[in-house]
Amino acid sequence: MRRAAARFGDASDKVKLVAVSKTFPGEDISPLLEAGQRVFGENRVQEAVGKWPQLKARYDGVELHLIGPLQTNKVREAVGLFDVIETLDREKLARVLAKELSGTGKNIDLFVQVNIGLEPQKSGIAPDEATAFVKRCRDEHGLNITGLMCIPPADEAPGPYFARLAGLAKDAGLEKLSMGMSADYETAIAMGATHVRLGSALFGSRG
Ligand SMILES: *Cc1c(COP(=O)(O)O)cnc(C)c1O
Repeated sequence: MRRAAARFGDASDKVKLVAVSKTFPGEDISPLLEAGQRVFGENRVQEAVGKWPQLKARYDGVELHLIGPLQTNKVREAVGLFDVIETLDREKLARVLAKELSGTGKNIDLFVQVNIGLEPQKSGIAPDEATAFVKRCRDEHGLNITGLMCIPPADEAPGPYFARLAGLAKDAGLEKLSMGMSADYETAIAMGATHVRLGSALFGSRG
């Protein structure tokens, strides 16, 4: 990551590593925590609720990101556990999150997920609608939107998709960009990622 940042950007260490620990048990996660890693990503609320409260109790300063789809009936649990939700992808979820957050007074960073390749099997706001959605989330729901997130199509060069997401974030006045996984994080950093989400590169294959 540092090499890529130095090659493409200002080398200012501004790219955050989100260690994606989904499917791995606490005993596999602890060595990373011991080594000082504090930012982690999980894609299922239920799985995260099963392992992260204990880990958060043992290690200070953990920042947990939800990177998978959020059902509205899991919003309360998600808000209780996660520090950043990267997958705000629809109006109804914005409404339910706003209600839950105003009730708890908790402040959570929210990223809007953009379906950058307009793929039917992926969730996310259509690219053309992203800036209007961000504005509605802020103005009508009072949500703290700080960035955009995407997963580009698997079988194409990701660069143009990452560039498009960066453009949308600029239009929306957002600084944070969560893009890039184990296979394409260097390209994502070249295109301005502020967060890369690495699973298999850190933990090995998920089997
Ligand atoms: C699993 C997952 C990752 C990590 O993928 P790797 O290829 O293992 O790095 C990143 N982002 C999301 C949304 C994921 O679900």
